[in-house]
Amino acid sequence: MKSLYREQLATMNPYIPGKPIEEVKKEYGIEEIEKLASNENPLGPSPMAIDAIKNEVENIHIYPDAAAIKLRTTIAENCGLEYENVIVGNGGEQILSIVAQTFINDGDEAIMAKTTFGLYGSSVHHMGGVPVKIPLKKYAHDIDNMINSITEKTKLIYICNPNNPTGNITSREDIDRFIKKIPNNIIVIFDEAYYDYAKVNPEYPESLNILKDRPNTIILRTFSKVAGIAGVRIGYALSSKEIVKEMGKVKGVFNVNKLAQVAAIGALGDKEHINKTVELNYKSMALMKEYFESKGFEYINSNSNFIFVNVKRSSQDIFEELMKKGVIIRPGHLWNWNNWIRVSTGTIEQTKKFIECFDEIR
Ligand SMILES: *Cc1c(COP(=O)(O)O)cnc(C)c1O
Repeated sequence: MKSLYREQLATMNPYIPGKPIEEVKKEYGIEEIEKLASNENPLGPSPMAIDAIKNEVENIHIYPDAAAIKLRTTIAENCGLEYENVIVGNGGEQILSIVAQTFINDGDEAIMAKTTFGLYGSSVHHMGGVPVKIPLKKYAHDIDNMINSITEKTKLIYICNPNNPTGNITSREDIDRFIKKIPNNIIVIFDEAYYDYAKVNPEYPESLNILKDRPNTIILRTFSKVAGIAGVRIGYALSSKEIVKEMGKVKGVFNVNKLAQVAAIGALGDKEHINKTVELNYKSMALMKEYFESKGFEYINSNSNFIFVNVKRSSQDIFEELMKKGVIIRPGHLWNWNNWIRVSTGTIEQTKKFIECFDEIR
């Protein structure tokens, strides 16, 4: 019998979210929980974003600006573009759905790393496309294999830079070599959710320069990580005016709410909060690296706000044992890396608590 549902749903699984803090507290009877599972900002939201929301809250009886002109203009000014080069979404997540909806016809192929952000594959599959997943090489995007996998059907190539969950960057040198080999009619998507953390590494490529020469490029960024406003859902993409126009046809009319629009403008102006966040990130990261090195645990060099480490045991067991002690991490089995865990950087106190608890159960 014909299925009631869109046929792709039969082969799709629901996303497994991290457990909410309140639920863990109840289930395990613990008071203090440190959530180092979702790469949120341990310093909290940008104070300028909070102020902006407070000032706007009286106006929520009015629909938001569907075109989000003020926000798009502010973003554009920040990166030397025009507002027509910017599309905003209900989180970077929505931007990724819009990308698939804009480009993928039945049977189109999209190349991506095998171990990367799960939404690339699921959004492409949902639209009837075929995700072509290339295994990592030495824990990094295998650029050459990705190039060699291009066929007549290739529409999109995703580069998660830095990559989630591994945290490492693809260097400018590799990206330059890659981009020269990609036909102009293929869309290259750089997911730069961790841009502000990554750009302190001199090897990190400036993808805006690529966009200037190569219009079929999309750069994705978000306010969920460094800006600390994951809860209001706002992310954006930078691309050619033509691509932004086409993506705008499927974005949903009022896709970014009024509070998110003003919060994002506030956060963009809050350089102090960004700097503090990045500084804390690398301090916490250094504590974890030092600990892992001293105990002989292999980790991947990260320019994100999390670290991926080989714990040499079942990640599910480690996950549960840490949870009982009040620390939530992301177990690697979700990516079929069964002995690895992903840990977000916390405050110094949170990070020390993770290290202490991990040391007790390892
Ligand atoms: C967090 C993240 C995003 C976007 O998250 P949103 O909260 O939806 O903006 C996109 N890509 C990667 C790799 C991420 O880690």
